[in-house]
Amino acid sequence: MRRHERFIVAAGVLGLLGLWEALARLGRLDASLAPAPSTILEALGRLLRRPEVLQSLGVTAWEALAAFVIAVPVGLLIGFTLAEVPGLGGLLRPLVNFLFGVPKSIFLPVFILVFGVSIPQKIAFGVFTTIFVLIMGGIAAVQSVPHELVTVSRVYGATRLQIIREIYLPAMAPILLESARLGMVFNITAVLLCEIYGARDGIGYRIAAWGENLQMPQLYAALVLVAVVAAAVVTRPLVAIRGVSQRFGADGAGVLALDAIDLDIPDGQFVSVVGPSGCGKSTLLSLVAGLRAPSSGAVLCDGETITAPMPRKVGVIFQEANLLPWLSAIDNVAFPLKLRRVPKGERLEAAARMLALTGLAGFESRLPHQLSGGMKQRVAIARGLVQNPAVLLMDEPFASLDEQTRMVLGDELLRIWSETRKTVLFVTHSLNEAVYLADRVVVLSARPGRVVDDVAVDLARPRSFAMTSSERFGILKDRIWQHIKHAERR
Ligand code: ADP
Ligand code: MG
Repeated sequence: MRRHERFIVAAGVLGLLGLWEALARLGRLDASLAPAPSTILEALGRLLRRPEVLQSLGVTAWEALAAFVIAVPVGLLIGFTLAEVPGLGGLLRPLVNFLFGVPKSIFLPVFILVFGVSIPQKIAFGVFTTIFVLIMGGIAAVQSVPHELVTVSRVYGATRLQIIREIYLPAMAPILLESARLGMVFNITAVLLCEIYGARDGIGYRIAAWGENLQMPQLYAALVLVAVVAAAVVTRPLVAIRGVSQRFGADGAGVLALDAIDLDIPDGQFVSVVGPSGCGKSTLLSLVAGLRAPSSGAVLCDGETITAPMPRKVGVIFQEANLLPWLSAIDNVAFPLKLRRVPKGERLEAAARMLALTGLAGFESRLPHQLSGGMKQRVAIARGLVQNPAVLLMDEPFASLDEQTRMVLGDELLRIWSETRKTVLFVTHSLNEAVYLADRVVVLSARPGRVVDDVAVDLARPRSFAMTSSERFGILKDRIWQHIKHAERR
């Protein structure tokens, strides 16, 4: 979810809760059916202190986990078999597709008749509900493996086991993880349903009991609790880099530029990426930009695999401003919108706003050669922002500028970031810049690039020049330098 969307959700929910609270206090709601949110909150506090409630939560968690641990390997194994054995797959796929579509909850009475209301019944039903997602995920994962890579590794004498480890697993990882996440959602639902329908313990059983006894505060409090747990399973980072490796040159003699990079970048975070030259920083950004596909693994933005540039989601700013020399500043900024056929008035208005944001109001009609290096880079930043992408990738954007301009532009960037709250991935050579700007610094090793450190920058915001001489700043910078120093020496 984008930041403004999240704001709308939060404001909407708070507004509704406020209205509910007000109506309840004014006595306009039946307190026995809809107690005030504050009463529910109190009930939640009390529930979390009652040992038998905590024990029920534990029972539910245990059942869900047991079902999950059984369903994942069994489901995936069935999926892999169906995908890999063509005859069997051809025969059984239609059946699996059909069963996948049938709502599993209608089978619950059968499970209760067979297994009773015991714990095994809930685990069995959890497995039954979860397994189809994993079978489908297993089939999709196998089909996503690039066959050329398997052929190439066979030419180089890879054994079956090596092919599975080196090609299959990394290529399938993103789909497998997503199926597991979906499976967990189904699984929790199934176990709760079992407990509500017929059980002697578990949080679902308590929800049913509170409902029957009209203990509304407890009932609502339990719903809040379950919703929070579900949100934790469903929430995902804005940008997810999963097991990404990049090899240049198709054969085994090629250069491995990036090796198994795993990074989760939450919405709104400012992340600096540093590492010795040639370690693959630009390559990493080009993968997130969708300018090339990784040799293995995947990059996801908002849950969607990036396979081509997604200009509305991801903006890119390079080291050189790369302005079109025959276009004025404002037309350069409006260029991405022109490509999208946004009407002229609208795109010029958006471009003028971005130029003002980057401190270039009054320079709209200048041509690039009439602008200083710093100004050109501001135009490039404005152009990167004009489509309002959620993610902004910056590859050493200030590297060709003198130090003073660099510092001024760094502060400008922070101001723009605090106003627009983009998610930023910022590559730089300067450790000062990396620490000064970011919430977090990712340190890559010398080629092949691997993540060797992930440093949280716990300096207050807004940042000020004085912070760069603080002790904490020095400690953070030194920690990063230790990694780079070792890498450059090798
Ligand atoms: P950085 O930005 O960290 O300095 P790059 O991502 O530009 O590093 O490059 C990482 C490694 O990959 C380097 O060794 C570089 O020579 C190699 N490389 C980058 N792009 C290509 C390409 N298109 N073809 C072959 N090798 C490349
Ligand atoms: Mg580079």
